[in-house]
Amino acid sequence: MSYVDEIIEAVTQNHPGEPEFHQAVKEVLNSLRPVIDLNEARYRREALLERLVEPERIITFRVPWVDDQGQAHVNIGYRVQFNSAIGPYKGGLRLRDNVNLSIIKFLGFEQIFKNSLTGLPIGGGKGGSNFDPKGKSDREIMVFCQSFMTELARHIGADTDVPAGDIGVGAREIGYLFGQYKRMKNCFEGVLTGKGLTYGGSLARTEATGYGLVYLLDEMIRTHGDQLAGKTVAISGAGNVAIYATEKAQQLGAKVVTLSDSTGWIYDPEGIDLAAVKEIKEVRRARLSEYLTVRPNAQYSTEGRVWSVSCDVALPCATQNELDLADAEALVRNGCRYVAEGANMPTTLEATEYFQAKGVLFAPGKAANAGGVATSALEMSQNSQRLSWSFEEVDQKLKGIMVSIYHKIDEAAKRFGAADNYVLGANIAGFEKVAEAMLAQGVAF
Ligand code: NDP
Repeated sequence: MSYVDEIIEAVTQNHPGEPEFHQAVKEVLNSLRPVIDLNEARYRREALLERLVEPERIITFRVPWVDDQGQAHVNIGYRVQFNSAIGPYKGGLRLRDNVNLSIIKFLGFEQIFKNSLTGLPIGGGKGGSNFDPKGKSDREIMVFCQSFMTELARHIGADTDVPAGDIGVGAREIGYLFGQYKRMKNCFEGVLTGKGLTYGGSLARTEATGYGLVYLLDEMIRTHGDQLAGKTVAISGAGNVAIYATEKAQQLGAKVVTLSDSTGWIYDPEGIDLAAVKEIKEVRRARLSEYLTVRPNAQYSTEGRVWSVSCDVALPCATQNELDLADAEALVRNGCRYVAEGANMPTTLEATEYFQAKGVLFAPGKAANAGGVATSALEMSQNSQRLSWSFEEVDQKLKGIMVSIYHKIDEAAKRFGAADNYVLGANIAGFEKVAEAMLAQGVAF
């Protein structure tokens, strides 16, 4: 049995009941086969893969809190400190009712490689709780965050583990978590990212994932002798990533013709009016259907998905598994040649393989949406130096990072005889740096 197959089997046996984690390990290790085969003897001797798939530390804890009616509740808190070979653990905290250890381990494992690709010194981690913030009052959210941090504070620190936001954890929750950490430790340090601008947050963090996605896309298109300017772009979602991807694509001369939310999607063949979308989604937090009151010639539909329109570029920026094989076939039929993932895992495996078989250039989320975590690492740098960089400085650094990520994944794909296979390139390029660091630091690290 090959080393990869042995490890996949061992993970499945040693950690039963963790399907999401098993799937992530399988997907990553399968695409690493070329590099693992090449170094098998050394990796086996050093038990590299056994160490890679086992988190350095898993912390689970009780999170007791009292609701507005005086009723006590208990949720489960998690922090998986997966790999610190190249820097302090870094990854978001997710608050959602379906959070469990398998999901946190899957996300933490993926985070190792994404963080490595940024070229910045950040290891992989993830955390959260099965607490569902929906319908909770501000006071209940604050009390939960304080209780969660009361335990988490023992395990994190600016040079140890720096959590950030994820689903259910935005600026409000980061504020409450930071306040409690500071109170407990009597220490003002960059222990969390995604902070407000008045207490150590970074300019351009809001724009970073969407802008970064388009910077990487632009570089991918240009290195293939083409240009983004003049292209028609289909984007899904109307949240943080979709809005700022639209903004940057428009700034670079592309025409964005679709956006969607969880109830329907808009098609505006003349190009999306982004000011109108920001007003609807960011200010009024309303449904996208209201777009028609501003742009009566656009179309709104609750049937199907954005991927049925004619476009050159598709940027899925909403949610997981939102682009399946039928969508991929429609996109290719209608002339789409470039796809880059803004969301995490928006494209199904079958759709990804179809794009690759048809010669569509496909940039996976691990590389394409790394602008968010990269800018979080820039927030850490600013906090360490007690400095705040201007928007332009952060944006320039972000652009440099995304261009460099593209060239890393392109080079790794070519080196292993799989030019333009950026799924393979991203996994290999992310893995190689972590593997080297783990080997250099010895086994008992
Ligand atoms: P938001 O919550 O801001 O936006 C998500 C958008 O997608 C919303 O407009 C939502 O609709 C829409 N949506 C949700 N489900 C569906 C669906 N089934 N069909 C169509 N639209 C849907 O999230 P973000 O923009 O921050 O994140 C989007 C994705 O990007 C996620 O996968 C996230 O993990 C990933 N990501 C985000 C990063 C960041 O920095 N924000 C960094 C890296 C990855 P509605 O408005 O109705 O809720």
